[in-house]
Amino acid sequence: MSKAVFITGAARGIGAAIARRFAAEGYYVGLVDLDGDGVARLAAELGANRSFHALLDVTDFPAYERVLNDFVHAAGGRLDVLVNNAGIAKFAAFEDIDPAFHAKTIDVNLKGVVNGFHAALPHMKKTPGAAIVSLCSASALYGTPGLAVYSATKFAVRALTEALAQEFAPHDITVTDVLPGFVSTDMVHGQSRAATEAVKKMGGIDHKPEDIANLVYRAASGGKVHWPGNMLVRFGLRFAGLLPGLFRRVLRPMAQMH
Ligand code: NAD
Repeated sequence: MSKAVFITGAARGIGAAIARRFAAEGYYVGLVDLDGDGVARLAAELGANRSFHALLDVTDFPAYERVLNDFVHAAGGRLDVLVNNAGIAKFAAFEDIDPAFHAKTIDVNLKGVVNGFHAALPHMKKTPGAAIVSLCSASALYGTPGLAVYSATKFAVRALTEALAQEFAPHDITVTDVLPGFVSTDMVHGQSRAATEAVKKMGGIDHKPEDIANLVYRAASGGKVHWPGNMLVRFGLRFAGLLPGLFRRVLRPMAQMH
Protein backbone atom coordinates (compact mmCIF):
# COMPACT_ATOMS: atom_id res chain seq x y z
CA MET A 1 0.00 0.00 0.00
CA SER A 2 1.29 3.51 -0.86
CA LYS A 3 2.07 6.04 1.84
CA ALA A 4 -0.88 8.34 2.60
CA VAL A 5 -1.01 12.14 3.02
CA PHE A 6 -4.07 14.14 4.12
CA ILE A 7 -4.07 17.82 3.11
CA THR A 8 -6.54 20.44 4.33
CA GLY A 9 -7.40 23.46 2.19
CA ALA A 10 -6.29 21.47 -0.86
CA ALA A 11 -8.61 22.99 -3.48
CA ARG A 12 -6.18 25.70 -4.58
CA GLY A 13 -3.02 27.64 -3.79
CA ILE A 14 -0.35 26.07 -1.59
CA GLY A 15 -2.57 23.10 -0.63
CA ALA A 16 -3.10 22.07 -4.27
CA ALA A 17 0.65 22.41 -4.97
CA ILE A 18 1.40 20.21 -1.93
CA ALA A 19 -1.07 17.61 -3.21
CA ARG A 20 0.62 17.51 -6.64
CA ARG A 21 4.08 17.23 -5.00
CA PHE A 22 3.13 14.26 -2.81
CA ALA A 23 1.20 12.62 -5.67
CA ALA A 24 4.35 12.83 -7.81
CA GLU A 25 6.17 10.92 -5.06
CA GLY A 26 3.61 8.11 -5.26
CA TYR A 27 1.54 9.01 -2.19
CA TYR A 28 -2.16 8.25 -1.90
CA VAL A 29 -3.49 11.79 -1.43
CA GLY A 30 -6.44 12.98 0.67
CA LEU A 31 -7.83 16.33 -0.46
CA VAL A 32 -10.27 18.22 1.76
CA ASP A 33 -11.59 21.76 1.56
CA LEU A 34 -14.68 23.92 2.02
CA ASP A 35 -14.63 24.02 -1.79
CA GLY A 36 -15.92 20.53 -2.63
CA ASP A 37 -15.88 21.14 -6.39
CA GLY A 38 -12.27 22.33 -6.23
CA VAL A 39 -11.02 19.16 -4.51
CA ALA A 40 -13.13 16.99 -6.86
CA ARG A 41 -11.41 18.64 -9.87
CA LEU A 42 -7.95 18.13 -8.38
CA ALA A 43 -8.78 14.50 -7.51
CA ALA A 44 -9.77 13.91 -11.14
CA GLU A 45 -6.43 15.41 -12.24
CA LEU A 46 -4.43 13.21 -9.83
CA GLY A 47 -6.39 10.06 -10.65
CA ALA A 48 -9.46 8.66 -8.89
CA ASN A 49 -7.64 5.57 -7.61
CA ARG A 50 -4.69 7.61 -6.29
CA SER A 51 -6.69 10.19 -4.38
CA PHE A 52 -9.60 10.75 -2.01
CA HIS A 53 -11.58 13.97 -1.77
CA ALA A 54 -14.25 15.36 0.51
CA LEU A 55 -15.89 18.56 1.60
CA LEU A 56 -14.61 19.43 5.08
CA ASP A 57 -14.70 22.49 7.29
CA VAL A 58 -11.65 22.03 9.54
CA THR A 59 -13.38 23.88 12.39
CA ASP A 60 -15.96 21.06 12.70
CA PHE A 61 -14.24 18.37 14.79
CA PRO A 62 -16.84 15.55 14.50
CA ALA A 63 -16.84 16.01 10.72
CA TYR A 64 -13.01 16.10 10.69
CA GLU A 65 -12.83 12.80 12.61
CA ARG A 66 -15.40 11.19 10.30
CA VAL A 67 -13.72 12.28 7.06
CA LEU A 68 -10.24 11.35 8.30
CA ASN A 69 -11.49 7.89 9.37
CA ASP A 70 -12.93 7.41 5.87
CA PHE A 71 -9.63 8.50 4.32
CA VAL A 72 -7.51 6.19 6.50
CA HIS A 73 -9.84 3.31 5.68
CA ALA A 74 -9.48 4.05 1.94
CA ALA A 75 -5.68 4.30 2.41
CA GLY A 76 -5.48 0.78 3.85
CA GLY A 77 -5.27 1.83 7.49
CA ARG A 78 -2.33 4.23 7.38
CA LEU A 79 -1.82 7.97 7.82
CA ASP A 80 1.80 8.88 7.06
CA VAL A 81 1.49 12.67 6.75
CA LEU A 82 -1.04 15.31 7.76
CA VAL A 83 -0.60 18.79 6.30
CA ASN A 84 -2.44 21.46 8.30
CA ASN A 85 -2.74 23.90 5.41
CA ALA A 86 -6.27 25.43 5.45
CA GLY A 87 -6.10 29.06 6.51
CA ILE A 88 -7.69 32.46 5.96
CA ALA A 89 -6.41 36.05 6.13
CA LYS A 90 -7.55 39.59 5.59
CA PHE A 91 -4.77 42.16 5.23
CA ALA A 92 -6.16 45.34 6.88
CA ALA A 93 -5.91 47.49 9.99
CA PHE A 94 -7.27 45.71 13.09
CA GLU A 95 -10.12 48.22 13.45
CA ASP A 96 -11.19 47.75 9.82
CA ILE A 97 -11.76 44.01 10.24
CA ASP A 98 -15.12 42.85 11.53
CA PRO A 99 -14.91 41.07 14.93
CA ALA A 100 -16.72 38.11 13.31
CA PHE A 101 -13.91 37.77 10.76
CA HIS A 102 -11.32 37.94 13.56
CA ALA A 103 -13.15 35.11 15.35
CA LYS A 104 -13.31 33.09 12.14
CA THR A 105 -9.58 33.59 11.58
CA ILE A 106 -8.88 32.12 15.03
CA ASP A 107 -11.32 29.27 14.35
CA VAL A 108 -9.85 28.22 11.00
CA ASN A 109 -6.15 28.96 11.58
CA LEU A 110 -5.88 27.74 15.17
CA LYS A 111 -8.88 25.58 16.08
CA GLY A 112 -8.67 23.88 12.66
CA VAL A 113 -5.03 22.97 13.34
CA VAL A 114 -5.78 21.72 16.87
CA ASN A 115 -8.56 19.59 15.37
CA GLY A 116 -6.07 18.17 12.88
CA PHE A 117 -3.61 17.15 15.61
CA HIS A 118 -6.43 15.53 17.63
CA ALA A 119 -8.01 13.67 14.74
CA ALA A 120 -4.69 12.43 13.32
CA LEU A 121 -3.05 11.19 16.53
CA PRO A 122 -4.80 7.79 16.92
CA HIS A 123 -4.09 6.91 13.28
CA MET A 124 -0.49 8.11 13.42
CA LYS A 125 0.26 6.09 16.53
CA LYS A 126 -0.42 3.05 14.33
CA THR A 127 1.69 4.29 11.37
CA PRO A 128 5.48 4.06 11.92
CA GLY A 129 7.40 7.26 11.08
CA ALA A 130 4.35 9.52 10.62
CA ALA A 131 4.64 13.32 10.34
CA ILE A 132 2.50 16.41 10.80
CA VAL A 133 3.48 19.58 8.93
CA SER A 134 1.63 22.83 9.60
CA LEU A 135 1.59 25.98 7.49
CA CYS A 136 2.96 28.66 9.79
CA SER A 137 4.16 32.03 8.44
CA ALA A 138 6.81 34.74 8.55
CA SER A 139 4.17 36.65 10.55
CA ALA A 140 5.00 34.26 13.43
CA LEU A 141 8.41 35.94 13.85
CA TYR A 142 7.28 39.36 15.06
CA GLY A 143 3.69 40.58 15.64
CA THR A 144 2.64 41.81 12.20
CA PRO A 145 0.53 44.96 11.79
CA GLY A 146 -2.19 44.72 9.17
CA LEU A 147 -2.33 41.01 10.00
CA ALA A 148 -2.59 41.24 13.79
CA VAL A 149 -4.99 38.37 14.52
CA TYR A 150 -3.68 36.23 11.64
CA SER A 151 -0.16 36.76 12.98
CA ALA A 152 -1.35 35.77 16.48
CA THR A 153 -2.81 32.51 15.11
CA LYS A 154 0.49 31.72 13.38
CA PHE A 155 2.43 32.37 16.62
CA ALA A 156 0.03 29.84 18.15
CA VAL A 157 0.74 27.31 15.37
CA ARG A 158 4.46 27.79 16.02
CA ALA A 159 3.94 27.13 19.76
CA LEU A 160 1.78 24.05 19.07
CA THR A 161 4.46 22.71 16.74
CA GLU A 162 7.24 23.15 19.30
CA ALA A 163 5.16 21.62 22.11
CA LEU A 164 3.75 18.68 20.17
CA ALA A 165 7.09 17.88 18.51
CA GLN A 166 8.17 16.95 22.03
CA GLU A 167 4.91 15.29 23.16
CA PHE A 168 4.51 13.16 20.03
CA ALA A 169 8.16 12.13 19.66
CA PRO A 170 7.71 9.01 21.85
CA HIS A 171 5.01 7.88 19.37
CA ASP A 172 7.53 8.18 16.49
CA ILE A 173 5.55 11.14 15.07
CA THR A 174 7.53 14.07 13.62
CA VAL A 175 5.94 17.51 14.08
CA THR A 176 7.23 20.45 12.04
CA ASP A 177 6.07 23.72 10.50
CA VAL A 178 7.05 25.79 7.48
CA LEU A 179 7.32 29.59 7.55
CA PRO A 180 6.84 31.20 4.13
CA GLY A 181 6.97 34.88 3.28
CA PHE A 182 4.37 36.10 0.75
CA VAL A 183 3.28 33.32 -1.62
CA SER A 184 1.64 33.89 -5.00
CA THR A 185 -1.90 32.62 -4.22
CA ASP A 186 -5.44 34.00 -3.98
CA MET A 187 -4.79 34.70 -0.30
CA VAL A 188 -2.40 37.50 -1.33
CA HIS A 189 -3.81 38.44 -4.76
CA GLY A 190 -7.36 38.75 -3.41
CA GLN A 191 -6.56 41.57 -0.95
CA SER A 192 -7.34 45.30 -1.23
CA ARG A 193 -5.32 47.74 -3.35
CA ALA A 194 -3.80 49.25 -0.16
CA ALA A 195 -2.72 45.79 0.96
CA THR A 196 -1.22 45.04 -2.45
CA GLU A 197 0.78 48.28 -2.24
CA ALA A 198 1.99 47.37 1.27
CA VAL A 199 3.10 43.92 0.07
CA LYS A 200 5.01 45.59 -2.80
CA LYS A 201 6.76 47.96 -0.37
CA MET A 202 7.76 44.95 1.73
CA GLY A 203 9.56 43.50 -1.31
CA GLY A 204 6.62 41.78 -3.03
CA ILE A 205 5.87 38.10 -3.48
CA ASP A 206 8.60 35.81 -2.12
CA HIS A 207 7.56 32.36 -3.35
CA LYS A 208 5.57 30.31 -5.83
CA PRO A 209 3.22 27.72 -4.25
CA GLU A 210 5.45 24.97 -5.71
CA ASP A 211 8.44 26.26 -3.68
CA ILE A 212 6.45 25.89 -0.47
CA ALA A 213 5.17 22.47 -1.55
CA ASN A 214 8.81 21.35 -1.91
CA LEU A 215 9.57 22.74 1.55
CA VAL A 216 6.57 20.91 3.06
CA TYR A 217 7.70 17.66 1.41
CA ARG A 218 11.17 18.05 2.95
CA ALA A 219 9.74 19.11 6.32
CA ALA A 220 7.71 15.88 6.46
CA SER A 221 10.96 13.96 6.80
CA GLY A 222 11.87 15.92 9.94
CA GLY A 223 15.38 16.84 11.05
CA LYS A 224 14.36 20.24 12.42
CA VAL A 225 11.19 21.75 13.84
CA HIS A 226 10.92 25.04 11.88
CA TRP A 227 11.45 25.27 8.11
CA PRO A 228 11.92 28.92 7.02
CA GLY A 229 10.81 29.85 3.51
CA ASN A 230 13.87 32.03 2.81
CA MET A 231 16.98 33.69 4.28
CA LEU A 232 15.05 36.58 5.82
CA VAL A 233 12.78 34.22 7.74
CA ARG A 234 15.79 32.15 8.79
CA PHE A 235 17.36 35.37 10.12
CA GLY A 236 14.07 36.28 11.83
CA LEU A 237 13.84 32.93 13.61
CA ARG A 238 17.17 33.72 15.27
CA PHE A 239 17.03 37.44 15.81
CA ALA A 240 13.44 38.82 15.83
CA GLY A 241 13.38 38.94 19.63
CA LEU A 242 16.78 40.66 19.79
CA LEU A 243 16.19 43.27 17.08
CA PRO A 244 12.62 44.52 17.52
CA GLY A 245 13.43 47.95 16.05
CA LEU A 246 14.68 46.40 12.81
CA PHE A 247 11.59 44.19 12.48
CA ARG A 248 9.25 47.13 13.16
CA ARG A 249 10.98 49.07 10.35
CA VAL A 250 10.63 46.15 7.93
CA LEU A 251 6.92 45.80 8.80
CA ARG A 252 6.12 49.54 8.67
CA PRO A 253 4.27 49.44 5.30
CA MET A 254 1.80 46.97 6.83
CA ALA A 255 1.20 49.36 9.75
CA GLN A 256 0.37 52.20 7.35
CA MET A 257 -2.46 50.39 5.51
CA HIS A 258 -5.79 52.20 5.55
P1 NAD B 1 -5.65 30.24 -0.35
O1 NAD B 1 -6.62 31.23 0.15
O2 NAD B 1 -5.17 30.32 -1.75
O3 NAD B 1 -6.21 28.75 -0.12
C1 NAD B 1 -6.71 28.37 1.13
C2 NAD B 1 -7.62 27.17 0.98
O4 NAD B 1 -8.13 26.83 2.28
C3 NAD B 1 -8.84 27.46 0.08
O5 NAD B 1 -9.02 26.42 -0.86
C4 NAD B 1 -9.99 27.53 1.07
O6 NAD B 1 -11.25 27.12 0.54
C5 NAD B 1 -9.52 26.59 2.16
N1 NAD B 1 -10.19 26.82 3.45
C6 NAD B 1 -10.44 28.01 4.04
N2 NAD B 1 -11.14 27.83 5.17
C7 NAD B 1 -11.31 26.48 5.32
C8 NAD B 1 -11.95 25.67 6.29
N3 NAD B 1 -12.59 26.21 7.34
N4 NAD B 1 -11.91 24.34 6.13
C9 NAD B 1 -11.32 23.77 5.04
N5 NAD B 1 -10.71 24.50 4.07
C10 NAD B 1 -10.71 25.84 4.21
O7 NAD B 1 -4.43 30.29 0.68
P2 NAD B 1 -2.89 29.84 0.55
O8 NAD B 1 -2.10 31.04 0.25
O9 NAD B 1 -2.78 28.65 -0.32
O10 NAD B 1 -2.61 29.46 2.07
C11 NAD B 1 -2.47 28.14 2.55
C12 NAD B 1 -1.82 28.19 3.93
O11 NAD B 1 -0.55 28.81 3.83
C13 NAD B 1 -2.61 28.99 4.96
O12 NAD B 1 -2.54 28.35 6.22
C14 NAD B 1 -1.87 30.31 5.00
O13 NAD B 1 -2.06 30.97 6.22
C15 NAD B 1 -0.45 29.85 4.80
N6 NAD B 1 0.44 30.90 4.32
C16 NAD B 1 0.14 31.57 3.17
C17 NAD B 1 0.99 32.59 2.77
C18 NAD B 1 0.73 33.38 1.52
O14 NAD B 1 1.40 34.41 1.34
N7 NAD B 1 -0.18 32.96 0.64
C19 NAD B 1 2.14 32.91 3.52
C20 NAD B 1 2.39 32.18 4.67
C21 NAD B 1 1.55 31.18 5.07
